[in-house]
Amino acid sequence: MSEESIESADNFPPTQDGYQRLWTPQRMVYVQGQDKPKDTSKKECPFCAAQKKTDEEGLIIWHGTHVFAIMNLYPYNVGHLMICPYRHVGMLVDLDDDELFEFEKATTLAITVMKEVSHPDGWNVGINQGEVAGAGVAGHLHQHVVPRWEGDSNFMPITAGTRTMPILLGKQRDDYAAGFEHLQGDFNLPSRN
Ligand SMILES: [Zn+2]
Repeated sequence: MSEESIESADNFPPTQDGYQRLWTPQRMVYVQGQDKPKDTSKKECPFCAAQKKTDEEGLIIWHGTHVFAIMNLYPYNVGHLMICPYRHVGMLVDLDDDELFEFEKATTLAITVMKEVSHPDGWNVGINQGEVAGAGVAGHLHQHVVPRWEGDSNFMPITAGTRTMPILLGKQRDDYAAGFEHLQGDFNLPSRN
């Protein structure tokens, strides 16, 4: 291709059209996975590791018979917790009937505890299954329960997810733990210990 045939960049968009654009090439790092550790096989699963710690250290809120509740170290929003089976399995279909029932029942308990503790206006509840779907710990199933308040997205975008607030997390764990203990009877969910 001769130099003469190369068109001037001035002829390409964006031309001035009154719109502002956000140029975010750094997002491609997420899409292409450059920052991911190459070998995660030797790294212990954080949900299995937490079960070996004290509840305070592991930020575990509640122990059911088959599942437990734990704070999210990288919350989408203040008060974000997760429900996990004790077993290290990655998919909802891996759960047996007892686990599946308690997994969902504990989710309703978590929502009720949040209502009592922090009065959210709404919730995001859900599972990312598999790395491609956004699961941070794909090997160990976890249901996100994220309280939402009117206007909260103004200060904590759902995509941020990288701020750790250990002191706040400890206090929230304590408040939630008290709430789970207080309300678990209403949900016919016995605590394991
Ligand atoms: Zn695990």
